[in-house]
Amino acid sequence: MRFKSTRDEQLTAGFGEALAQGLAPDGGLYVPTEWPRVQAGSFSARESLAGIGARLLAPFAAGDPLAPSLPEVTAEAFDFPAPVVALGGGGRLAVLELFHGPTAAFKDFGARFLAACLSRLCGPAARPLTILVATSGDTGGAVAAAFHGRPGIEVAVLFPKGLVSPTQERQLTCWGGNVRSFAVRGTFDDCQRLVKQAFLDRQWRQERALSSANSINLGRLLPQAVYYAAASLAVFRCHGERASFIVPSGNLGNAVACIWARRLGLPIADVVLAHNANRTVPEFLESGEWRPRASVATLASAMDVGNPSNMERLRALYPDLGEIRSAVSACTVDDEAIRARIRAGYQELGQIWCPHTATAAEAYARLPAERRDSGRWVLVSTAHPAKFREIVEPLIGRQVPVPESLARLFARPSQCTEIDADLASLRDALRDGRGIGG
Ligand SMILES: *Cc1c(COP(=O)(O)O)cnc(C)c1O
Repeated sequence: MRFKSTRDEQLTAGFGEALAQGLAPDGGLYVPTEWPRVQAGSFSARESLAGIGARLLAPFAAGDPLAPSLPEVTAEAFDFPAPVVALGGGGRLAVLELFHGPTAAFKDFGARFLAACLSRLCGPAARPLTILVATSGDTGGAVAAAFHGRPGIEVAVLFPKGLVSPTQERQLTCWGGNVRSFAVRGTFDDCQRLVKQAFLDRQWRQERALSSANSINLGRLLPQAVYYAAASLAVFRCHGERASFIVPSGNLGNAVACIWARRLGLPIADVVLAHNANRTVPEFLESGEWRPRASVATLASAMDVGNPSNMERLRALYPDLGEIRSAVSACTVDDEAIRARIRAGYQELGQIWCPHTATAAEAYARLPAERRDSGRWVLVSTAHPAKFREIVEPLIGRQVPVPESLARLFARPSQCTEIDADLASLRDALRDGRGIGG
């Protein structure tokens, strides 16, 4: 299949090409040119996540050099579960747990799929590839984990010095080998600016092949449709009803993956976007006016996005405001309500939720009763609460158990290089290191 830019449908690329490029050359985002229909009945109950992934994604990779490797790629990327766990009380509510990967957040799915694809595209003969990621938290950890130890690929993770939580910083600095982290004396915006400047810099592009692995890459979005497929099929098999998902949202990558899965014919009913105090999307659905703005800092920090880039993909799918409004609804949840919901989740249901998951739980609580009662609702749990223990523990009055995968990361020695927020500092630091790129 070909993929077209959201800004120019004449501009197309194949699967592997779109993954390697990240952004289309005109600055648009790649979207599928066709929507193959999936027959829900053709999947058996025994099928693994990796098996569902290989079949669901096969039409997208068809004709591409990567196509024959797809089953191997999904087996490698989806080697941990994404269970749908019912919440007690005989209710119609469940949680989709997406935090069982190496860095305990849903970004592991996309990052691992992309890494498995790019390492096959690179091949031994190609120029070494440098992946530059600016991160304010979760993305950098997932990308670092996914590319760690892969030959021919070097990763540079840039984060704002002193502005990520201690738990997050450890996840960004514990790798070594081909993954190096840089504490930038500046803000997240400075980190992002550095990455963009490096991409535009001719000398950089001559020295090394650059890729970004950021969340607008098609190779991170498509694999996320796989867990929505698996979860909706499991719910449908069990209850004979379509599942409705409440998705904690920032850049809308996770939500667009859910909507794409529905478009492919999977048994998915409503999609509700749960945003924190960054209310650009809920306000757009209400007023019809798109007013991106600077982000504000909240407890659910991985969703602090004021100008969600994947809105462009949603609008490509639904050009008309009325269509978008019937495809999704959205709400905004402030920090006070997030705190209250974390407490209530623990007291009433014995659940320990990260601030992002609590945003979805609050959005559920605010649905009209008849909508709650007539749907099969699934809260999407995007991160393990242990990643946000500084926030969660004081609210529930106990320690959060740390999953084994995270404990392993926390035990590794940490190392990072501090740099000024300019391109020359980054170039010098990359050159002196043990880097393979130059
Ligand atoms: C990235 C992230 C989100 C937001 O996902 P988008 O795809 O950007 O909407 C939500 N929760 C957690 C824990 C995240 O890391």
